[in-house]
Amino acid sequence: MTPKTKIQKEVARLSATLRPISDAQIEWAYKHCIEHIAYRTKNGTITCSDCGHVWHSKSTLADTLCGCRCPICGAELKVEETRKRTRHQTRYFCVITSRKDFQVIRVAQVRYESRKGEPMKFYCTEVVQRWIAQDGKVTDMALLRGFTFCYCDVWALDSNMEVRPYNSLYDEVVAWSDVYPRMSILPQLKRNGFKGNFHGVSPVRLFKALLSDPRMETLMKAGEIEEMKYFLSNPVTADNLWASYLIAKRHHYKINNIGMWCDYLNMLKNLDKDIRNPKNICPNDFIKAHDRVNRLIDAKREKARAERERQYEIERREREQQRLLKEKENEDKFIALKSKFFGLVIADNELTIKVLESIDEYYEEGRKQDICVFGAGYYRKENTLILSARIDGEIIETVEVDLRTLKVVQCHGKYNKDTEYHDRIINLVNSNAKLIRKRMTA
Ligand SMILES: [Zn+2]
Repeated sequence: MTPKTKIQKEVARLSATLRPISDAQIEWAYKHCIEHIAYRTKNGTITCSDCGHVWHSKSTLADTLCGCRCPICGAELKVEETRKRTRHQTRYFCVITSRKDFQVIRVAQVRYESRKGEPMKFYCTEVVQRWIAQDGKVTDMALLRGFTFCYCDVWALDSNMEVRPYNSLYDEVVAWSDVYPRMSILPQLKRNGFKGNFHGVSPVRLFKALLSDPRMETLMKAGEIEEMKYFLSNPVTADNLWASYLIAKRHHYKINNIGMWCDYLNMLKNLDKDIRNPKNICPNDFIKAHDRVNRLIDAKREKARAERERQYEIERREREQQRLLKEKENEDKFIALKSKFFGLVIADNELTIKVLESIDEYYEEGRKQDICVFGAGYYRKENTLILSARIDGEIIETVEVDLRTLKVVQCHGKYNKDTEYHDRIINLVNSNAKLIRKRMTA
């Protein structure tokens, strides 16, 4: 990628002035970053992975647990009883240097290929440069990432070191890296508290933080390393609790476990307690206070749950009440509309045609006959009278009479089908319309 911004152009220009990774640095990486193996067979033959020298050792495998030294090349070797004949490994190391106003982290990949009995082949290639400006902003130079290459090699090793957009792989290789001990550090980083120790934090992360976050500078200078590491990894907590942390420090409060203390403060906050009040945040017996608020949180949660259940029960009862009221209302309405017809029976020598006398009877009629007399709410209809034509209590057809004309408008058997009694029922009801009219005028 062609450098575009002013800072990218500056980084590309300065990068060209860096000397290649030096022989001394490569020598260091060879010694420190890769495993040097003594291949040992069961009968005690040992082969040096570095120079390929073979010798016989009378010592047992247990004797050589701490390693051995090659009598020819002098390499310190890790003894492995193995039948394997080859080995390869890829590692990364960082060279930390500075150029003008930039702190530079150069990452080189080292690879070795060892074949039993031959001198080890060793390669070193610089793959990434991370240029950290004085405001903590990072510009990255890197080789092209390869996708089609051998699994251990994520770089296109013959590509150019160029300014490239950020890729999380750059963070990863720095994090995996050993750091070459001789470093050149920007004066500003030294002023901000860096004394050469990364305390297990990745160099890029630590430098960025020290250059751009005054809180990390404060912690570094005060030697509060655990606190610094914790706040670095928990930036949201750092934002939320930094003021409280400063108050605790002002009261010379000793925090033994920063993670636990921050949890404690978050719990206090959850309980709506003032986390700027030293009385709350600097308890004499921290463990006791921590456990107490923890229990309070549990109790709060339990209370909220109980309250939700109570509320649900209230609502359930209200709904049930509403339902019963509605039912009662329907029933009352039905009685007002239809009770004057109760007891009305039209019959011949076989059929008995009776008025349905409750909403339950509508429900039963509908259910037994598979018709919608209940579902469609016929019991609510003002100008309609529903009768059930039966023989020996068995429902034959269900009849609807229009109370305005006193004529049958519907008459159906099970599944809305007509039975052999269909016409006979209609005629019987129509010819007895006077019985219905009598009830209406009564
Ligand atoms: Zn050797």
